[in-house]
Amino acid sequence: MHVCVFLLGALQLTATSRGAADVNQVIIAVHGGLALPRHELTQEREREIRSALKQSLSAGYKELSAKNGTSLRAVVAAIKILEDSPEFNAGKGAVFTSAKTIELDAAVMEGKDCRAGCVGAVQHIRNPIEAALAVMERSRYVLLVGPAADAFAKEKGLEIVDPEYFSTEYRLKQFEKLKASRSTFDKKDAPDRQKGNRGTVGAVALDHAGNLAAGTSTGGLAFKMPGRIGDSAIIGAGTYADNRACAVSATGDGEYFIRSCAAHDVFARMFYKSASATEASSQVIDGIRQKKAEGGLIVLDHQGQLAMPYAAEGMYRGYVNRNGEMQIDLYGGR
Ligand code: ASP
Repeated sequence: MHVCVFLLGALQLTATSRGAADVNQVIIAVHGGLALPRHELTQEREREIRSALKQSLSAGYKELSAKNGTSLRAVVAAIKILEDSPEFNAGKGAVFTSAKTIELDAAVMEGKDCRAGCVGAVQHIRNPIEAALAVMERSRYVLLVGPAADAFAKEKGLEIVDPEYFSTEYRLKQFEKLKASRSTFDKKDAPDRQKGNRGTVGAVALDHAGNLAAGTSTGGLAFKMPGRIGDSAIIGAGTYADNRACAVSATGDGEYFIRSCAAHDVFARMFYKSASATEASSQVIDGIRQKKAEGGLIVLDHQGQLAMPYAAEGMYRGYVNRNGEMQIDLYGGR
């Protein structure tokens, strides 16, 4: 188990050896998806992943510490960093579809008025999370998909890139391997689920005003059929926020999260049954496990209590608490 605790005094990261940071006083948490099988994670990649998570949390923390900083801006700032890192299956470094294209999904939601914005299967937007925010703030819709969503982002002045920008050597190799094994996610129950599709990213945050927000961004499943949109872009499945209970971001086998309305299920257990974040999220993850699927959740309640359960070997994740202490874990340490 790797545990890192840092102090963010004036945003100056300092390693300490004080053990786990307090998980009941959290203001921002991020995930970088389910972890690769441990034996496949090289030391170099582990360093890169830890460093990106740290930068992402710092960016979110900076937003939250700013005068008038909001949880919504913090979530977007944190996710942008992870989208720009080639280590995760979101933005640059996303997986290929079976047609060797890259199609990205993202969603953002704020807990005050339950406003939300999402994009699905976009191919040209450098930071899909910004496009999701634009859908929420600058359109009357919740979900835009495909070329029209790309065009919407362009019209709103977001950074547009050639699809080549998202491609990495690692994902190209993964694509060739999947193609050679003729693996497909279109088969019922996806028996040949590939652990290499990992790396969806997400964030949840709580600001000074007591407002929660959640966001998620992904390239989806490796070798997915073009046009497939996963849980990340679907409110109530992979992303949810409502100040009355919690903010949620999920990762894992998206179809299971959609069918079980997983993120909303966490909210419902907390709101209607007064379950804690830990109880509600572990019950939902148990359901995913029982279906022999894999997945993880980050759940932050309106008082700053955080839960990060997962059914898998590991989940890249981290958080910062009110005292500015940061903790990052990849495996174990639940
Ligand atoms: N949940 C994502 C999807 O199904 C994938 C992942 O989290 O790894 O699109």
